[in-house]
Amino acid sequence: MKKIKILNFVMSLFVICTLTGCGHEHEWADASCEAPKTCVSCGETEGEKLEHDWILASCETPKTCSSCGLTEGEAIGHKLTEANYQQGAICTVCNQEVGDPLPAEFAEHENLIHVKLDEEFDYETLCFQNENYSTVGKFIISDYKCFVSDEEQGLEVKEGYVWQSVNLHGEYSDENARKYGARQVVHDFSYYGAREAQNTFQENDEYDTFTENFNGNDYEIRVDVRTNKEAWENDVRLIVDYNVNVQVPIGFDGMLFGLLHRSVGQYTEEGQFLFDVEGGTNPSMVHLFRFPKAEL
Ligand SMILES: [Zn+2]
Ligand SMILES: [Zn+2]
Ligand SMILES: [Zn+2]
Repeated sequence: MKKIKILNFVMSLFVICTLTGCGHEHEWADASCEAPKTCVSCGETEGEKLEHDWILASCETPKTCSSCGLTEGEAIGHKLTEANYQQGAICTVCNQEVGDPLPAEFAEHENLIHVKLDEEFDYETLCFQNENYSTVGKFIISDYKCFVSDEEQGLEVKEGYVWQSVNLHGEYSDENARKYGARQVVHDFSYYGAREAQNTFQENDEYDTFTENFNGNDYEIRVDVRTNKEAWENDVRLIVDYNVNVQVPIGFDGMLFGLLHRSVGQYTEEGQFLFDVEGGTNPSMVHLFRFPKAEL
C-alpha cells in the first residue's frame, strides 16, 4: 500500500512540471506564399514559405498570385478585330466586345426618317416645266412585305439575302402641278455606311446596286423600283405609283427609301452627299422611310 501512494505523488509532480515550466502549445497558422508556418502566439516559425500560386497573365490582368494577389509584369492586352456598324471590336483571345459599334451615318439625322408605314405625308418639290413654282403631293408608303424570291416578278433567290418590298403611292392635284407638273426625286440610302453606299452605287439595266457593310462583311444590295403608274387622271390629278423592291442580307435593318425635294435631289450631280447640301438635313425637304429588319 505504501509503495503505490509514493508513485502517485511522483506522477503528479511530473505533470505539473510539463504544464508550467516548459513554455506553451504553439498555435500554428498554415504556411502561405507570404510566410512559413508560424505560431500566432509566439511568432515561432517552422519550415519555408510556399511558392506563389500563379495565374497566367490575360488580356486585362497581369500574372497574379491567386493567394496573395501579388502581380508580375503587365496584362497582355486584347487582340482586337475592327469594329463595324453592328458590333464593337472583338478580342480574338477572350471574345469580349471592346468599345462601341461604329456610329451609323444617319444616326445624327434620324429626323429625316419620319415617314411611317401606311401614314400619308406631304411632299413638296419643284414643278416640272417651271422650277420657279413648287407643288405639294400627298404620298403614302404601304404594303410592306419580306420574301425570299418572286419568280413571277423576276426577283431571284440569292443565298443569305431576302427581298423587302413596299408600295409608294402619290397624287399631285394642286394648281401648280396642274399647270407645270412635278419634278419628283425618289432615292434610296443606307442608314449605316451611307456615303460608302453612294460611292459604290451602280445603275444597271434591271436594277441598281450598292455595297453595304453588315456585321463586318460587304454585301451587294439590289434596288429595283418599278413604275406601276405615272399618269394624269382627267387632267386634274397626277397619280404616281411604284413598287420598290430591295434585296438585302437577312437581318439587315438599314435600308432607307423616300422622296427628296428637287432642289436637294440634284446633289449627286455635284458628287456631294445629302448632308452636305443646303436643305439636305431639313425634314421638310427629305422624307425617308426605314425598312424594318429583314426577317421572313
Ligand atoms: Zn508558439
Ligand atoms: Zn502569393
Ligand atoms: Zn481579350
